[in-house]
Amino acid sequence: MGSERSSTVRHMREGRICALCKEPLPPPHTIGERLCVACRRERKRHRVYLSFARVDGWCCQFLEEDLKTPLPKALRFRSQQKVRELAERGGCALTLETLQALNHGLETGRGGVWLELSEEQYRRLKG
Ligand SMILES: [Zn+2]
Repeated sequence: MGSERSSTVRHMREGRICALCKEPLPPPHTIGERLCVACRRERKRHRVYLSFARVDGWCCQFLEEDLKTPLPKALRFRSQQKVRELAERGGCALTLETLQALNHGLETGRGGVWLELSEEQYRRLKG
């Protein structure tokens, strides 16, 4: 039962099944949690801005959609790969543009990207 559950989680993370209703998603499968069309329509995703900077590791902060209100939870990572993973997990909308912004920020040591978080991911940042 445990392995069944973890494969569901893995498929969700790989963008193969809807993160809410678990229905299979059509390809292409981009890494990160995604929603099917029905769930996306039904459920508003939380648009959050991830701001990151290389300061003694990688410091990640989150802002509400108004770009003024910081979310209470900030994260710090040792490697930029972790920042990338965070963005991918939170980014059902990792478009080419977002990806370029992410890469540019990681190269220059400071940047930010828009994320679209699930209710659960958002709640975790709210602390
Ligand atoms: Zn769904």
